[in-house]
Amino acid sequence: MTGAPMFDKILIANRGEIALRVIRACQEMGIKSVAVHSTADADAMHVRMADESVCIGPASSSQSYLSKAAIISACEITGAQAVHPGYGFLSENAAFAQALEDHGITFIGPSAEHIRIMGDKITAKETAKALGIPVVPGSEGGVPDFETAIGVAAGIGFPVIIKATAGGGGRGMKVAKNAEELEIAFRTARSEAKNAFGNDEVYIEKYLQKPRHIEIQVFGDGKGNAVHLGERDCSLQRRHQKVFEEAPGPAITPKMRSEIGAICAEAVAKINYIGAGTIEFLYEDGNFYFIEMNTRLQVEHPVTEAIFGVDLVREQIRVASGLPMSFGQSDLEINGHAIEVRINAEKLPNFAPCPGKVRVFHAPGGLGVRMDSAIYGGYSIPPYYDSLIGKLIVHGRDRPEALARLKRALGELIIDGIDTSVPLFHMLLAEPDIQNGEYNIHWLEKWLAAQFAE
Ligand code: ADP
Repeated sequence: MTGAPMFDKILIANRGEIALRVIRACQEMGIKSVAVHSTADADAMHVRMADESVCIGPASSSQSYLSKAAIISACEITGAQAVHPGYGFLSENAAFAQALEDHGITFIGPSAEHIRIMGDKITAKETAKALGIPVVPGSEGGVPDFETAIGVAAGIGFPVIIKATAGGGGRGMKVAKNAEELEIAFRTARSEAKNAFGNDEVYIEKYLQKPRHIEIQVFGDGKGNAVHLGERDCSLQRRHQKVFEEAPGPAITPKMRSEIGAICAEAVAKINYIGAGTIEFLYEDGNFYFIEMNTRLQVEHPVTEAIFGVDLVREQIRVASGLPMSFGQSDLEINGHAIEVRINAEKLPNFAPCPGKVRVFHAPGGLGVRMDSAIYGGYSIPPYYDSLIGKLIVHGRDRPEALARLKRALGELIIDGIDTSVPLFHMLLAEPDIQNGEYNIHWLEKWLAAQFAE
C-alpha cells in the first residue's frame, strides 16, 4: 500500500452509542482508541471499551464534551493523532476543526471552511444554489425587517416559514399563514434566535404543506472525487426531531435517486469535500428542495450502511488519513431495505426525559438486526445529556421483511427500570400508513395529537 500511513491512535470526542460506533471501527482497523468522559460518565460503556480514557471535566457538557482545550490536552497527553467528533457536540464546530489543525491533530471530518459555510444556513443555501442543487423558494439571504418579510411572502405566497440563520436541531422556526401571523412570527423568531443562538438573523422560505424529508448521503475524498449513497427518508419527526428512518425512501424511484444523487455527488466533488456529509431536502410532488447540509456522520447512518454494505466510519478514517475511498459509485448497489428506530429514555405521552437506572438490558439479535447502544444492566443514565440511549436497525430483503423484522426485534428488546420510546414503535408498526410507507413530515405530529388527545 502506498500513500499516507494510517493513524495509530484516535481520540473520540463524544459519548454514548456513537462513541462505541467509532471505537468498533478503530478496533477492526487495528487503531488504538482513546475515550474522553465527564465525571458523570466515569462508568460509561465507551470508557470501558476504549483502550485508554481521559476525564476531561465535570458533568456539564460545556465544561467537558464541548471543551476544546480539554480535548486537545487529552490528545496531547495520550498521543492521539486524530479526533473523531461523532455527531452533536463539536462535530460541526469550525473553530474546533481549526484548533485541532493548528495543533497538528487531524479532524476526522470536512475542512473548517466547509463546516463554516454549511453551518450558516443562508450561506449554505446560496452555496447549494450556486452548485446546481435545487432550493426552497424564499428570500435572497437574510430578512432585516418586517416590510421586507411581507414583500418576500407576497412573492412566494403564504404559508411561509421563518428560520434562524444560525438555527439547528429543529429550533428557531416559525410558520405564518397570513400577514398578521407573519408580523408576530417575524418578531418572535428574531428574539428567540437572538436568545438561542446569539444571532437574530432570520430568512424566509415557502412552507411546504406535505413534504417528505429526504436526505442524500454523500462522501468525498477531498481530492475532487465523490459518490452518493442514495437517500434516507426521515419524515417521521416529532418537533422536527427524527424518530424513525428508512432507506431506500418508499417514495423515491431509482431514476429520481440517480438524478438527485448525481447532482449532490457532483456538487461535493466540485468543492473537494472530504468525508461524510448529508444533503437534506424536502421532497414534494416530484421535486427536491435543499434545506441544509450536515457536515458530519448522521445518527441514522446505519440504514445506509445496511443497504450498501459499507462502513462509513471506516471510510471517514481512511480519507482523513489521506487514503482513497475503498469504493466508487459503480461499486455501490442497493441491497434490500433498512429501518432504524431511535430509542430514547422518555415517557409517553409527553416524551418527558426519564433518565435513571437500567435494571435489565437485553438486546435483540438474529439475522438482519443491529443494536447500537451504550447502555447495560446496572447502568445509570445520567440526566445531563441527550435522551437517545440506543438505535435499533433492521435490514431485510425488502420493506415488508424489514418491517416484520423490526416488529420481531422490538419484541425481543428488554430495557427494564426506565421508560423508553419502544411502545411508540409498537404502536406505529400497527398503522396502515406506516406499513404502506405513506407518510410525510406532519404525519407523526398529527397522529400523536389524535392518539393522546384527552
Ligand atoms: P434544523 O437545522 O433545525 O434541523 P432544517 O432546516 O433541517 O432545520 O429543518 C428541520 C425540519 O423542519 C425539516 O425536516 C422539516 O420537517 C421542517 N421544515 C424546514 N423547512 C421547511 C419548509 N420550507 N417547509 C416545511 N417544513 C420545513
